[in-house]
Amino acid sequence: MKKLTLRDVDLKDKKVIMRVDFNVPIKDGKITDDTRIRAALPTIQYALDKGAKVILLSHLGRPDGERDPQYSLKPVAERLKELIDAPVYFVDETRGEKVEEAVSKLKSGEVLVLENTRFEKGETKNDPELAKYWASLADIHVNDAFGTAHRAHASNVGIANYIPSVAGFLMEKEIKFLSAANENPQKPYVVVLGGAKVSDKIGVINNLLTKADRILIGGAMMFTFLKALGKEVGSSKVEGDKLDVAREIMENAKAKNVELVLPVDTVAAQKMEAGVEKKVFKIDEGIPEGWMGLDIGPETIKLFTEKLSDAKTIFWNGPMGVFEIDDFAEGTKKIAEAIVNATKKGCISIVGGGDSAAAAEKFGLAEEFSHVSTGGGASLEFLEGKELPGIASISVKKN
Ligand code: AMP
Repeated sequence: MKKLTLRDVDLKDKKVIMRVDFNVPIKDGKITDDTRIRAALPTIQYALDKGAKVILLSHLGRPDGERDPQYSLKPVAERLKELIDAPVYFVDETRGEKVEEAVSKLKSGEVLVLENTRFEKGETKNDPELAKYWASLADIHVNDAFGTAHRAHASNVGIANYIPSVAGFLMEKEIKFLSAANENPQKPYVVVLGGAKVSDKIGVINNLLTKADRILIGGAMMFTFLKALGKEVGSSKVEGDKLDVAREIMENAKAKNVELVLPVDTVAAQKMEAGVEKKVFKIDEGIPEGWMGLDIGPETIKLFTEKLSDAKTIFWNGPMGVFEIDDFAEGTKKIAEAIVNATKKGCISIVGGGDSAAAAEKFGLAEEFSHVSTGGGASLEFLEGKELPGIASISVKKN
């Protein structure tokens, strides 16, 4: 099912209300990372070049429906002014006379940024009145905020009930890559999962068992699987109430002929801190009490690298260890490099947002994958096979 994109609609002199993801980190009123603003530029610039009047909506942080100045989009509008070659205006309101006046004055080729959508209580409740109001400001809605696609809010989903909604370029790219992995992945399709908890990933693992050829499991979640197999995991992080779930997943994998690959060794320490004594333990020999596994070990790196080498599609979500601490970052780095090597041989590689995207960034590899998703939660739900409200609401292309 093809979705309408910005390219499919006439934008000349049209008022376009665009939901972007300007949820950038801000410290003491200063933007510390403007990647998301830069990422939105091609979509905004295209609309301006086609003669649209662009009204931008975004959330920033979690002000919970209150006007909280620390979450104002003003610094974002100012940064946008520096990045784009067009007049950029800002109104410190989300609705009302000031907004309507600014919209009526807006000319083709100009940008107006409205205040944080989450200053409105109705935003996260998908309030129809609020959605209708925002829709009344424009002719067309552009949805370019994939990171919120798993949430039905007024600014991304509600508006689409009143005016046509089309995908922006970021959204289009997310749909293209994630659908490719979900619908007919080139085989072998290898999935690498890590991170803190099995419980966050049960849904996605179950769906991937019907699609993937191999699932490699690292991160803290590996210990829940290893414990379920009766291994000694010492003081490693285990979800004690998920042992049955882990067993069930392993049985399902066997029944479906999916190779589920678990680590054979781990780098452990007695404290989750930089500079402490580290030891490598083989999983078959067990991890002693008092020691916790904080990264995959060298034999596992070799094993996983080999399992990734012939992949034609890779989806990676979750770090292999506590990558934020350099002592335990090696596993994540080496696996990221193995995925990059597969990509160089023609494999389609998708990094599923959140911590894996942060890790890819930390190792300077973010540009080397086929696609780094901007939405951690949204990409996981997509690969769970769920219909995301923020994609379902985009108009379908008819032909
Ligand atoms: P998630 O948000 O589920 O992707 O989890 C990411 C977090 O898992 C990161 O902050 C990692 O530091 C953490 N993590 C990865 N491996 C381990 C481990 N072996 N023990 C404890 N925490 C871990």
